[in-house]
Amino acid sequence: MKFKIVSKGDERSNRIKATMKQYLIEFDLEYDRKEPDLVISVGGDGTLLEAFHRYVHRLDSTAFIGVHTGHLGFYADWVPDEVEKLIIEIAKTPFQVVEYPLLEVTIRSKTGGTEDRFLALNEATIKTADGSVVFDVEIKGEHFETFRGDGLCISTPSGSTAYNKALGGGIIHPSLDAIQLTEMASINNRVFRTIGSPLILPKHHTALLKPMVDRSFLIAIDHFTTNYVNVKSIQCRVAEERIRFARFRPFPFWNRVRDSFVAEEDD
Ligand code: NAP
Ligand code: MN
Repeated sequence: MKFKIVSKGDERSNRIKATMKQYLIEFDLEYDRKEPDLVISVGGDGTLLEAFHRYVHRLDSTAFIGVHTGHLGFYADWVPDEVEKLIIEIAKTPFQVVEYPLLEVTIRSKTGGTEDRFLALNEATIKTADGSVVFDVEIKGEHFETFRGDGLCISTPSGSTAYNKALGGGIIHPSLDAIQLTEMASINNRVFRTIGSPLILPKHHTALLKPMVDRSFLIAIDHFTTNYVNVKSIQCRVAEERIRFARFRPFPFWNRVRDSFVAEEDD
């Protein structure tokens, strides 16, 4: 089996990376940056997001696992103390895999008919540095509302505990193939009206956002933001592709939610 370790880059993460790398090589696993079967991220959830985007072109053959060197993460749910146990588990391959849904975002341009397609593990957000965004929101090909406000967030189930949660969105179990659309400060008065509640769309229910006012948009895919001009539409739906996580022990999603947001830490 071939593996790659992505570190957050701080001293502690680098040290754990070096230890894991050395042990796994001693167990006869091969270190391969290009075509790893397993990508181990050492750092935080942000590090796993980075690792995901680095290997997004080979999701069908790469599985991910996260070790956290800061606080408990949603993707990075192994603590450094467990690293030796994890190394032995990895060396014992084959491993079990759990798949989570992803968000597909297609940004179409008014000029030249070009389009950019992205996969997001957490979410896409659309904002502007230039006043409010105004979008016609279509769902499944039908006009739903005209949104005016700070922006919109479209998240995956595993991303529902990230930005989406801060916007008052619901937490969705990643076994559900869905995306969630949440508003950022919508303007609601006698002229403008939006639904106001987060919307949860199942697979094949596409949301299409069409800018009604020509603006440049700050479109973030997970941790990476790009400024877009001449945007014709932004299409969001559940992706066909999925992310695969290597599972060596159960750590149910709701336990991670509890331990991250509700339970007091013992240490
Ligand atoms: P960051 O500023 O370090 O991320 C903000 C926080 O979100 C960090 O504590 C990060 O954990 C955590 N996080 C990331 N994915 C998560 C998930 N699926 N569930 C729960 N928490 C999660 O930037 P980053 O590490 O590059 O992460 C980018 C993400 O930050 C974006 O995808 C977005 O979801 C989130 N974000 C949130 C807000 C907000 O809540 N108002 C605003 C902007 C961005 P780690 O410390 O372990 O990395
Ligand atoms: Mn981070």
